[in-house]
Amino acid sequence: MLDYHLHLWPHGTPASQPTLDELAAYCDAAAAQGVGEIALTEHLFRFRQADAVLSGFWADDPNHELRTSMAAYWKAHAHADLDVYVDAVLEAKAAGLPVVLGLEVDHYAGRMDTVAALLDGYPFDVLLGSVHWVGAWGFDQLGDPAVDAEWDARSVESVWDTYTDALEELAASAVCDVLAHPDLAKVSGRRPAVPDEWYDRMAEAAASSGMAAEVSSAGWRKPAAEAYPAPPLLSRFRKAGVPATTASDSHGLGDVASRSAELRALLADAGYETLTSFRGRSATQVPV
Ligand SMILES: [Zn+2]
Ligand SMILES: [Zn+2]
Repeated sequence: MLDYHLHLWPHGTPASQPTLDELAAYCDAAAAQGVGEIALTEHLFRFRQADAVLSGFWADDPNHELRTSMAAYWKAHAHADLDVYVDAVLEAKAAGLPVVLGLEVDHYAGRMDTVAALLDGYPFDVLLGSVHWVGAWGFDQLGDPAVDAEWDARSVESVWDTYTDALEELAASAVCDVLAHPDLAKVSGRRPAVPDEWYDRMAEAAASSGMAAEVSSAGWRKPAAEAYPAPPLLSRFRKAGVPATTASDSHGLGDVASRSAELRALLADAGYETLTSFRGRSATQVPV
C-alpha cells in the first residue's frame, strides 16, 4: 500500500522546518499500517513562491464576502519556502527513507501555465491535482461563515457542475499526475440525487488526461462520511483504465495511512490489483 497524500502542517498553524526525524516518524507510522511508501504532498499555496505569482486569483469573483474570505485564507497560509521543503524531502530520500517528493497543486482557473512554469525545474516525483475552490469560493473550508452561506445559496447540481468544469480544465492542463479526492464536491455531505452524469465526466477527464485517481480515506473525516471517490465513481475509473493511488491526506502524524485496510477493500471491490508509484513523474504499477 501507499500513502501518496500527506501534509506536514495542519491548516491554521504556521509552517515549520521539516526535519529528518519528522519524516522518519511519518514513514514509521505508515509502516505500522502496512504502507511501505509515502509521498509528501504539501499544498502549493503554503509557499511564498506561489504567493508571488498566484495571489489574487480570486479577484474577479463578484462576491465580496468570498473574496475577503479567500484573501484571508491565502494570507494565513502562503509563508513557507518551497526550496527548503524540497531539500528536506530530498534529504530524507537520500537517507534511504521510503518517501517521494510531491506537492498538492491546486486548480487555478486560466493560470495553469503559470503553475507549470513555477514548478518547472523542481525534481518532483508526483504532483497531485486538486480542485479546492471555484472562483473565490473555497468550498471545502467548511465552518467559514462566507463559505457555508454559499453552500446554502447554490443548488447542489450547480456546485457539481462548476466543480466538474474545473476538474476537467485541471486534467486537460496536464500539469499534474494524480487527481486528488476526485469527488471533493461531496465534502459537505450534499450530493445530487443521481450523480451519474458528473461521475461520467470525472472518469472521462481522468482517462483522457492519463492521470491516476486517488482513493482517499479523508472523506471519512468530513461530513461526506465516505472515501473519495464513491464506489460507483471508482468503478468507472477502473472501467476507463484509470490507474489508482491510495492516500490519507493527513495534515500531521495522527492520520498517516489511516483506514488503509478499508481502502484496500474498496480497491478490491472495484477490481484494482495494482497501485501507481511515481519516480520523477513516471508511473509504475505496484501490487496493492
Ligand atoms: Zn486537497
Ligand atoms: Zn491535501
